[in-house]
Amino acid sequence: MAEKVIIIGSGPAGWSAAVYAARAELAPLVFEGAITEENRLNGTLPLGQLALTTEVENYAGFPAGDLKAFLETAVAPDRFQYMNVHEGKHAVTGPELMELMRQQALNFGTRIVTDDVVAVNLQKRPFVVRSLAGTEHEAHALIIATGARANYLGLESEEAFKNRGVSACAVCDGALPRFRNKPLIVVGGGDSAVEEATYLTKYASKVHIVHRRDKLRASMIMQQRALGHSKIQMEWNHTLDEVLGNDKEGVTGVRLASTVDEKRRELPTAGVFLAIGHTPNTAFLKGQLEMNAMGFIKWTAPFRTTTSVEGVFAAGDVADDYYKQAVTSAGTGCMAALDAERWLAAREA
Ligand code: NAP
Repeated sequence: MAEKVIIIGSGPAGWSAAVYAARAELAPLVFEGAITEENRLNGTLPLGQLALTTEVENYAGFPAGDLKAFLETAVAPDRFQYMNVHEGKHAVTGPELMELMRQQALNFGTRIVTDDVVAVNLQKRPFVVRSLAGTEHEAHALIIATGARANYLGLESEEAFKNRGVSACAVCDGALPRFRNKPLIVVGGGDSAVEEATYLTKYASKVHIVHRRDKLRASMIMQQRALGHSKIQMEWNHTLDEVLGNDKEGVTGVRLASTVDEKRRELPTAGVFLAIGHTPNTAFLKGQLEMNAMGFIKWTAPFRTTTSVEGVFAAGDVADDYYKQAVTSAGTGCMAALDAERWLAAREA
């Protein structure tokens, strides 16, 4: 029996779509992603990018407070391991927020498959969805909410030292012993770079932010936190030319290239954290759905989550290269569920 709707992805867009679809009695099936080493390295584990962040201060409805008692009553105990519940007063953390959303979707009857979708057939109806484990499911409507993942520069030396000092997730890897009390570098000039650098100051002796221009892209409040921090040093007008290191120690330094002259210089560091933007997770859709030049799914009508294939809806960062916020993702997840519900109802009528 074909599902009414399958939702692919488990960030704020996926779970919001699931809450709405479940409450509309569409019995959604969510593919939340697989727990694999490859997904860990790519930053594509279940619960999406928010699971890789710290406090989320800009998700309306979660002012800082002591959330522990709430989390203990709201979320199933077997999920506590994924939340690393924070003690004391704090804004909700990314992992906490995602577990709350997942639980809310479950409470309304969402079914969850902990696996990746590796291929879809959108030429057939019902659509066919194939998973990493090799299962096939059919669905009349699809909501794609697979988000985006962190970019790397593409240097050979960067690839060679991944997991041995090179990372794109300070929150996941920053506390490792190899980084403690050592100088670290973060590459990038957006909110992610500033957030990662600020986070790393907890462990590092110093954090250098390497940025290719002389002005940060990050929001003013985040900039102020970083620029005023005693452990953060800006390396303006530089790019990462090479990651230096050896088999025994992993990363030991970097070579930076100036963007204003021909100069190169070396900087000792135990870790290189990339924060240079994101790529949408749409490889499994190639050739099936219209996308823009950067691989983001195209919405085909203003204020609608419709795509180039009728019955396929897209929500969250996978279709948004502009706002990219947790709250906007959740909003478009809601829209996609409503669009799917109405589309299914119109077909049945
Ligand atoms: P972003 O805003 O796109 O910034 C990417 C940064 O990387 C830019 O500074 C860019 O430099 C630099 N960059 C890109 N490609 C590069 C390359 N090949 N070499 C060197 N530098 C390169 O991405 P983001 O920081 O990940 O933020 C994404 C979105 O999430 C934003 O909307 C942001 O506001 C949001 N966000 C919010 C928070 C928060 O509020 N707590 C935290 C994280 C992210 P240029 O500036 O020169 O282009």
